[in-house]
Amino acid sequence: MSKVEELHKRKSKLQIAGTACSNCRKTSKEAGVKILLRCTRCRMSYYCSKNCQKADFPGHKQFCQALCELSAKEEAWKLCDGDETEWNKRVIEHMHLLDEALDRPLTDYEKNSLLYQPKCQVCLISAVELKSPQKLIPCLSCMIISCCSEAHWKIHRPKHQKLCQTYKNMIECENVIYKLMGETAWAQEEWDESRTFPPLPKDWQTYFEWRNAPKFSESFLSVVTNSLSPPLTILAAIERFYTRDELHALDELIIHLIGASQYEIMSLSSFEEIMHVLPNVKVLRLILVGLELPNKTTPAGISMKCCSRCEKENRKRICALFPTSYHEHAEQPDDYIKPHIAVGFNTGLYETDTEHWEPTVKYLLDKDTPCVFTSYSKEEAAQDLQALKDWGAKIISGNKENKWKSIVPLIEPQVLDKFFYNNYYRTLFRGNAS
Ligand SMILES: [Zn+2]
Ligand SMILES: [Zn+2]
Ligand SMILES: [Zn+2]
Ligand SMILES: [Zn+2]
Ligand SMILES: [Zn+2]
Repeated sequence: MSKVEELHKRKSKLQIAGTACSNCRKTSKEAGVKILLRCTRCRMSYYCSKNCQKADFPGHKQFCQALCELSAKEEAWKLCDGDETEWNKRVIEHMHLLDEALDRPLTDYEKNSLLYQPKCQVCLISAVELKSPQKLIPCLSCMIISCCSEAHWKIHRPKHQKLCQTYKNMIECENVIYKLMGETAWAQEEWDESRTFPPLPKDWQTYFEWRNAPKFSESFLSVVTNSLSPPLTILAAIERFYTRDELHALDELIIHLIGASQYEIMSLSSFEEIMHVLPNVKVLRLILVGLELPNKTTPAGISMKCCSRCEKENRKRICALFPTSYHEHAEQPDDYIKPHIAVGFNTGLYETDTEHWEPTVKYLLDKDTPCVFTSYSKEEAAQDLQALKDWGAKIISGNKENKWKSIVPLIEPQVLDKFFYNNYYRTLFRGNAS
């Protein structure tokens, strides 16, 4: 499947929330209908018209059938009564049951439609559990958050009013990304001939001025920060580890992206920004190492297409993938090249794959490699930092809010009203503390 087809297939948060047509993405208002029709079998998909329902059916059929069977199993629908832990347990259980029923792993869309399924924010009753004519009442402003009754809205409204705008921003960003259809939001080919970097400008606004960015709408600008956050986080870090002269003398820049997965792969196109900020670099070598990567490339990597100006100047951006843990990769003398910087985006290393992160971090410390790691939230950053300290890291700058964080809100599926951001906090470290 092509990237564009894949994007077409991805359902929006509103489609999952049941307030946009599962086929054409329109809300009832946009489609000019009074209400959306609900699929009578699974009661989880909504359509603006019979035609849209028909068009969606081939892709929906299998999952619909499995959901239908699941909703008939009364014992699988124990009431959660406002208890989030119980609700989460139940949704995980549902995923297992659907896995089994379909005899294959669920797709991302299928997982998301369970994790983000519409539910009352107070008693946590799911839309599926409500027998018509009862149904959830969505917030008419963001259209994504619902309650089961006016009484429950009365309880939840004060809390929601503070967050409604963030939900709306999230949906607008999602629409911008959808319309881009895999094209990068940022394509600024020129660079500063006076080579003033470093230091970097002080924030996103001055950065865009420096880079002669066109006027963006607010949501488009958020999406641009999301795609530029990885390269800018790296540039800001190397500015701390290397002198201006060292950076200007660099002919080849080698970056290790550790614990890399889909996020790093999707970000690859925006890494050319590093070459545009550092025009003396002739070769940018990006080495992705992570257990979730799809396939191994040769150690020499694949040459990625650059902008016309870089191509003309014969500059190269090379990317190599190693689907393994970093410390194992480092033991392969044919594959391993010492980097200028090692990067871990949104690692959550204190709780996810900790058994792999520990030997990886210790290896980096022993080699005295300059490192920048980021976290999704302040709370995670504090715990990540503690783990790094426990493993003996010498912290250069711990747990600072990242100036180059993404401002696209992302929503945590398993905690009510909890937002997080790519590369929100960052920590720089290098070598052993003692
Ligand atoms: Zn439709
Ligand atoms: Zn259905
Ligand atoms: Zn309720
Ligand atoms: Zn709202
Ligand atoms: Zn270029």
